[in-house]
Amino acid sequence: MRCQACGNSKQTVNARFLSAVGMLFVSRFFSRKGQMCKSCVWKQFLEYTLTTFALGWWSVPSLLASPVILAFNCASLMAASWKLRHSAAKNKVPVSVPSRTVLA
Ligand SMILES: [Zn+2]
Repeated sequence: MRCQACGNSKQTVNARFLSAVGMLFVSRFFSRKGQMCKSCVWKQFLEYTLTTFALGWWSVPSLLASPVILAFNCASLMAASWKLRHSAAKNKVPVSVPSRTVLA
């Protein structure tokens, strides 16, 4: 399937990341959701998590939401990695192992 972030035809997984930005009296929340390849999952995770980590603490609503969002992003990354690994293992062609003769 095609990655919705970079457009490459790679193995993708449905993932979602959130971020919070606090600006003293205003807070804004962002969400990125879609089919992403492995490198885009990591890229989006880092972008959204680091944004929240740096800017999430500067207003009361985003201050309260930031720990939840950081935990959500970590869980989302783990779920996406697991799904990618699991589907890769399922599609892998079994490798035949040459039998070994032991000479006594
Ligand atoms: Zn991608």
